[in-house]
Amino acid sequence: MTIKSYNEERFSDISENIKKIRERIALAAEKSGRCAEDISLMAVTKTVDSLFINHAIDSCGINLIGENRVQEFLSKKDGLHLENTEVHLIGHLQTNKVKMIVPHVTMIESVDSVRLAKEISKECEKIGRTMDILVEVNVGMENSKFGIDSVLLAEFLSEIGEISNIRVKGLMAIPPICENSEESRRFFSNMYNMFLDIKGKKIDNIDMQILSMGMSGDYAEAIEEGATEVRVGSSMFGKRVY
Ligand SMILES: *Cc1c(COP(=O)(O)O)cnc(C)c1O
Repeated sequence: MTIKSYNEERFSDISENIKKIRERIALAAEKSGRCAEDISLMAVTKTVDSLFINHAIDSCGINLIGENRVQEFLSKKDGLHLENTEVHLIGHLQTNKVKMIVPHVTMIESVDSVRLAKEISKECEKIGRTMDILVEVNVGMENSKFGIDSVLLAEFLSEIGEISNIRVKGLMAIPPICENSEESRRFFSNMYNMFLDIKGKKIDNIDMQILSMGMSGDYAEAIEEGATEVRVGSSMFGKRVY
């Protein structure tokens, strides 16, 4: 197969995948008393070539992408059509990389320490901007995962609510890997309850709008349980090749 026809085949797969994902999102949104427009669809672009990311942006209406790694994103960004596209960082962020990424993203979804929040604040102050952030919650209390423990969340939020140049917009979670997507529901539902609970507490500078959860295998369940943003990679672009 020629390179051209290989690319064209992938373009049409991506278009088809996004169409199907949007249909499932609409259905799941309806089940939870909302509509498709209430849910943001993030295209997770780690390992994906710019050519295919641009196809999703230019031809499939994708206007939000998520990248995991600072270095990878910086090396790809100049080739991406980002004029009308938001970029969120969704992977673990080391404090020494904050400076490099802050000018290039509209949100950091993986904030999980006061130290990191302060570093983001410091770098944002230097360039005169404010960064929207989500707090990552370790909803399955797994040792192997990043994120704030659920029981410490309220305390953490009141602490980072005091920090300038950042704005807390909501919560993000990566639940434990479950046997099937039904099993993930209890984690999603725990997250939703925390989200509502904090919203009700009216903590200073905490504006609970976004609940980012659900990936390729379970985004429909996440939406049914209250997600406002889903992060979809492999079922959009195909299996990742590292
Ligand atoms: C890779 C990744 C995703 C997307 O995973 P898929 O299963 O490919 O949809 C979502 N969120 C985070 C934080 C990721 O690292």
